Amino acid sequence: MEVSVFGSGYVGLVQAAVLADVGHQVICVDIDDRKIVQLRQGIPSIHEPGLAALLEENIKAGRLHFTTQASDAVAHGKVIFIAVGTPPNEDGSADLQHVLSVARQIAGMMEQDRTLVIKSTVPVGTADKVRMETRATLDARDKTHLNAYVVSNPEFLKEGSAVADCSRPDRIIIGSQDPIAQAQMAELYAPFNRNHERTTYMDNRSAELVKYAANAMLATRISFMNELASLAESLGVDIEAVRKGIGSDPRIGYHFIYPGCGFGGSCFPKDLKALIHTAEENGIEPRLLRTVTRINDDQRQLLLHKLKAQFPEGLAGKSIAVWGLAFKPNTDDMREAPSRYLMEALWAEGARVRAFDPEAMTECRRIYGYRNDLELCATRDDTLQDADALVICTEWKAFRVVDFDELRKKLRARLVIDGRNLFNPQQLARAGLHYIGIGLPYIR
Ligand code: NAD
Repeated sequence: MEVSVFGSGYVGLVQAAVLADVGHQVICVDIDDRKIVQLRQGIPSIHEPGLAALLEENIKAGRLHFTTQASDAVAHGKVIFIAVGTPPNEDGSADLQHVLSVARQIAGMMEQDRTLVIKSTVPVGTADKVRMETRATLDARDKTHLNAYVVSNPEFLKEGSAVADCSRPDRIIIGSQDPIAQAQMAELYAPFNRNHERTTYMDNRSAELVKYAANAMLATRISFMNELASLAESLGVDIEAVRKGIGSDPRIGYHFIYPGCGFGGSCFPKDLKALIHTAEENGIEPRLLRTVTRINDDQRQLLLHKLKAQFPEGLAGKSIAVWGLAFKPNTDDMREAPSRYLMEALWAEGARVRAFDPEAMTECRRIYGYRNDLELCATRDDTLQDADALVICTEWKAFRVVDFDELRKKLRARLVIDGRNLFNPQQLARAGLHYIGIGLPYIR
């Protein structure tokens, strides 16, 4: 099928590459010309495992093209994905300006029927808005005979495994009550439904809420575990034992019950805010969702509090090694990352940061530029040079195996604060380190 994708970010780019890979003819459009120049050469603009190879193969095969010309994309794609950003407004609601402007742009250019597929995460009622705006634009052009079908098709990929998630989706949600659009979506996604049907059809509004419900549920599990971790810590109980104990219950499972230094990223915090806003607008008091957010806000301050408690003289002039800048492993994305809350708080206290991340160093430099109190180190172990303490913010695999004797020799205060509970507290205590995790008994 001929497919176009508006927005070449984490969602649009991966979706475009995966659709091209199963044989569709895909044009990807973005307003960022630097990104498009880079993508045309097969250079991914983001770090995602498997993406570079996918781009190279499909560009070479002539199935994947990049452009800044919206008109080319509208002329090409019978099915047109909208995968642009929906950042939060001041009041927490989702900013729909990019989604609506792309929809108007398509309606302003299309000369044949088109199916607009909303991939962006958008609040309930957005498909109705897109339908109204496209109709109005078409009517104003005297194109009353043309149809712009609107499908709500939320995306569930996880950054860090986006290619795998998109290639083998757990489920495909199609929100549309239009038989023509449903048939097109069935054809488009047929290669992903070969072994068993993964597609669930529903109305647009339900599909829109599915995405928020999924993210809110996952965020709730994390905040639940973080609250229990605080309780465990005060009781001298090991939250990791509790985690294993409850995760083995198939009704609970192991996913998203890791205690830590809070959730971040471009989705959970933003989508919770938007869902809270939707609830308020509709006269529902979002008590649980507010609490989930509040627990997370506190959790992101926890590493700093734990650090401050170990340095009663204050953090001014201290040098802190930080491992992990990305909001989670296998991505370079630092949007709302716990590391940012920590580093910014450390700088406010007058401390210096020596940081390392396997993928997010360029992104960190882009965000913070050059400053005296931030040293981006070439390796994990370089951060330890002249450092007082080590803080771990992201659970990268490359941080799991460590020579603890070396750590003790290098860290002036022999202090490790682990926001991801990577290590065995007994082992670190035996090596002569002060090890403080999240919800772990403190062993001296
Ligand atoms: P992103 O910021 O990485 O990418 C958005 C892209 O859209 C940018 O490259 C931007 O230049 C481009 N763009 C903006 N206006 C445009 C226009 N008029 N025409 C063409 N391109 C335009 O965002 P993202 O992380 O890919 O997220 C996109 C949407 O998908 C959001 O609604 C997000 O909530 C949702 N989502 C994201 C994830 C994720 O893990 N990142 C997962 C599921 C859903």
